[in-house]
Amino acid sequence: MAQPRLLGIIGDPIGHSLSPHMHNTAIEALGLNYLYVAFAVKPRDLAEAVAGMRALGLVGFNITIPHKEQMLALLHHLTDEARIIGAVNTVRCDGKELIGHNTDGIGLLTSLRNDAGFEPAGTRCVILGAGGASRAVTVQLALAGAAAIDLANRTRARAETLAQHVVAQIPGVQVAAHALDDAKLQDVLATADLIVNTTSIGMQSPDDTPLPESLIRSRHLVCDIVYRPLHTRLLREARKRGARALDGLGMLIHQGSAAFEWWTGQPFPVDRVRQSLIEALNGAAR
Ligand code: NAP
Repeated sequence: MAQPRLLGIIGDPIGHSLSPHMHNTAIEALGLNYLYVAFAVKPRDLAEAVAGMRALGLVGFNITIPHKEQMLALLHHLTDEARIIGAVNTVRCDGKELIGHNTDGIGLLTSLRNDAGFEPAGTRCVILGAGGASRAVTVQLALAGAAAIDLANRTRARAETLAQHVVAQIPGVQVAAHALDDAKLQDVLATADLIVNTTSIGMQSPDDTPLPESLIRSRHLVCDIVYRPLHTRLLREARKRGARALDGLGMLIHQGSAAFEWWTGQPFPVDRVRQSLIEALNGAAR
């Protein structure tokens, strides 16, 4: 059999990543001759590692924490999403040229549409957190035509910086910044359609939640992009309050799907991969 074509991921640490499991499951299900490999790369070694990926002829690779922004300087071209978000999570090697893309926001958008039937155009969205994932999610919801976006973050200044960035990049969009514990959030939430948690709270401390249960209403779709654990306290309380709840697995799968299809031109076997990831996450939780 011919040598497999190589895909991969670079990050530090990388052992916890579900991407090798996800992509190799898809490769096997489709009977393709590819192999997806994880590489632990320190920030000081990033440029050399990327030069190595090109020299070795990888088809493409993912980039995860802490390299998503530093990677920008090493690319020849950027997609519109990557340029506006200011970070890349996916690279395609076209000959000797490297093209950077960001599929995190598209991943959430596809999960909202396909898994929850939610169309963001014209809606009011509240995003908890203002870190890297929030940046991708906020830009993508703005590009999808959200009427208003409210960012609420523990460090208010970080939400303000992100709000200014999005307004400057996507003219016409309305983005406001708040502190996570701002009393005004109650009024904002009263008319909101979507709440997306992009803080790492549910992952760091599973008994904690970014939002008091009393602020959740039945009109809300509540999405927690944390997927370890899958059933966060925020989602449990959302269901209790009669709201719809969406976990972070869909975003993970659909960001991977967008990358995989961009690299291989093959349709991603979403259901097969979802089943396999649920088994892997349940196994890890035991
Ligand atoms: P990040 O850049 O480090 O941002 C972390 C965010 O969480 C910041 O807004 C931070 O607020 C907030 N935060 C952390 N601890 C907090 C606490 N104790 N109380 C209040 N706020 C707190 O991380 P990221 O890359 O955005 O990732 C965030 C989470 O999203 C992670 O759990 C990650 O696994 C998940 N994620 C999921 C997917 C998916 O595909 N489902 C994709 C990407 C990320 P400050 O600014 O105040 O520090």
